[in-house]
Amino acid sequence: MKNVFVLLMLAMMFSGQARAVSSCIYGRVIKDNKVQSYYWSKYNPSISYDNKFRRGSCKQSSINKYWKDFGMEKKYWDDGMGYYSTCDAYKPLNRMFNAIRVLHISKNSSQSSNAMLNHAYGYSKGSIKHLRVKCGTNDRTNASMSNRIVKFYWKGIYNKVVVERALTLLHEARHRHKGHNGGKKCPCKCSCDSKWSYNGSNTYGALYGWWYGYYAKNSNTVLKNIALNDAQWNIDNRFVKHPGYRVR
Ligand SMILES: [Zn+2]
Repeated sequence: MKNVFVLLMLAMMFSGQARAVSSCIYGRVIKDNKVQSYYWSKYNPSISYDNKFRRGSCKQSSINKYWKDFGMEKKYWDDGMGYYSTCDAYKPLNRMFNAIRVLHISKNSSQSSNAMLNHAYGYSKGSIKHLRVKCGTNDRTNASMSNRIVKFYWKGIYNKVVVERALTLLHEARHRHKGHNGGKKCPCKCSCDSKWSYNGSNTYGALYGWWYGYYAKNSNTVLKNIALNDAQWNIDNRFVKHPGYRVR
């Protein structure tokens, strides 16, 4: 794979005339007719903590459950996406199974059943009719939902630690009932919600990260800190009216 990439880059650099290229390459994206590459920073499954969940996710019982619960379909997950290598954390399918598994096994029965931590798996399962992957040269979007179909793009799969990916899955699931209502009027100028009590995707995501950071089961300090940082980032950047919360 690496050699193919290098050859392609050389061919582009020396071809003189730039051609539109739309290629889907694991870990890297070549953008339209520019000789430019991205390396997704969380591509390595040790760095993304996919390795921590990889084996549990690819047990047959897990595969059967997650596949069914999230309406996954072979034609979207074969062709190099991991259907034939379900334990390979470099492939999109295992990485999505890992994100789903985080929602599944982080539940903490000592906390209220209404806590977002305990509610997230069932809510996501109930809201998402089909979960698909889309080989993306679109480097701005993590994932999207329309008509209860959630698509994950390369950025959502390869530029996120597994707990961030789980949070994104819940965020998209929430779009079944609520879109973003704040335009670009929040600090990040991206997917803004008006306020916390709108109870949209940003509130759900922030709450999940917050609960996860304090009470998640089957986790570790690094993942919990990442979740808390994500929660705080959502709070600080994705609301038109700052909710005023500090998660620690
Ligand atoms: Zn959104």
